[in-house]
Amino acid sequence: MTTLDIAHEKREDALAAAPRALRPSLVGLTRPQLMEALGAFGLPEKQLRMRAGQIWNGIYNRGLTSFEGMTTLSKELRQKLEAAFDMSRLEIVTEQKSVDGTRKWLLRLPSAVPGVPGPEIETVYIPEEGRGTLCVSSQVGCTLTCTFCHTGTQKLVRNLTAGEIVGQILIARDALGEWPDGGRNSEDRLITNIVLMGMGEPLYNFDNVRDALEVVSDGEGLSLSKRRITLSTSGVVPMIEKAGAEIGCMLAISLHAVNDETRNKLVPLNKKYPIEELLEACRNYPGVSNARRITFEYVMLKGVNDSLEDAKALVRLLKHIPAKINLIPFNPWPGSPYECSDWETIEKFADVVNRAGYASPVRTPRGRDIMAACGQLKSDTVKKRASERFREAAQPTG
Ligand code: SAH
Ligand code: SF4
Repeated sequence: MTTLDIAHEKREDALAAAPRALRPSLVGLTRPQLMEALGAFGLPEKQLRMRAGQIWNGIYNRGLTSFEGMTTLSKELRQKLEAAFDMSRLEIVTEQKSVDGTRKWLLRLPSAVPGVPGPEIETVYIPEEGRGTLCVSSQVGCTLTCTFCHTGTQKLVRNLTAGEIVGQILIARDALGEWPDGGRNSEDRLITNIVLMGMGEPLYNFDNVRDALEVVSDGEGLSLSKRRITLSTSGVVPMIEKAGAEIGCMLAISLHAVNDETRNKLVPLNKKYPIEELLEACRNYPGVSNARRITFEYVMLKGVNDSLEDAKALVRLLKHIPAKINLIPFNPWPGSPYECSDWETIEKFADVVNRAGYASPVRTPRGRDIMAACGQLKSDTVKKRASERFREAAQPTG
């Protein structure tokens, strides 16, 4: 599949607008930022709120990719705005569909260097009974090097802009036909939940993630409530409280081990922010309550973190935190130094957790056949370091 919609290309010819990359994108700007951009463009102060509202409606309620369809603006203004600003989609490199309905898009970001293709990211849509979750990336690659994670073998290329984070949702809505013109109303939405569980560590791209989520949760736009948005972190302790205060979405913690020795190997960031500090930050997470629990993700690695003692220790560890536990079967990737725990072991582990009062669904791996499952995301912007990682990898600790 290729890039821009045809309408956009035609229009560009007709208006001889500046090349796309030179025009700043309006996608992902918060309302105040959008008003500021329109003010700098020269719209009168008195009109800013109204014009920003009209443009917002075009982008986030109607899915428009150009000013052409924004007929509440005069033709002359539309043409001027078109020449100054961009609102086109990210480039779709490939789109894959799993046998289980999971869809994965490989998207190319604009290049910073002329002639060199831009970096790539992945976005995954997971349909389930009564809900649909979009798994969104926040960085190209990741600076952290969790030893079981495919993305962790890819060096950080760069942070995504707020527009590139929001842009992933727009692409998914296009593909799913989820704009009003596609005949859907808000009751039967296909994308009901967003998880920041794609590539990257969202708390290392804090400002852009915060702004993107402000746009996504705006009630007069994409309208996904913060209760339906989950940010997953490997445990950047100093940013957790800030996330609660400034973003206020649901929190998921990639715990994966119950003692520092094992967690140091799986999530090296643990050496900086050990388990006790992490859990303290969780206890203090603004808004946490039994109705707003923190999700603890726990990837099941054979012989590493999957014993019954581990399960019991997990329950003890989370005792005074309003928590949900998500057991994730390890998704292998080429060269990965771990194996997934046996199904029987996972069930026994889950039993202990369930008996302690957690409805802990074992997350069914989705989209494995298209490498869209958790931790399998990695684009070709990659410097392959899997073999290096393999050598350094954690030894099973039983
Ligand atoms: N960087 C963030 C969010 C992205 S990872 C974080 O680490 O939380 C999303 C989830 O997938 C995390 O819980 C991560 O630990 C998990 N994960 C990574 N690699 C995996 C793999 N190979 N199999 C299963 N889960 C994996
Ligand atoms: Fe980065 Fe998360 Fe993967 Fe760790 S698990 S390397 S933090 S994306």
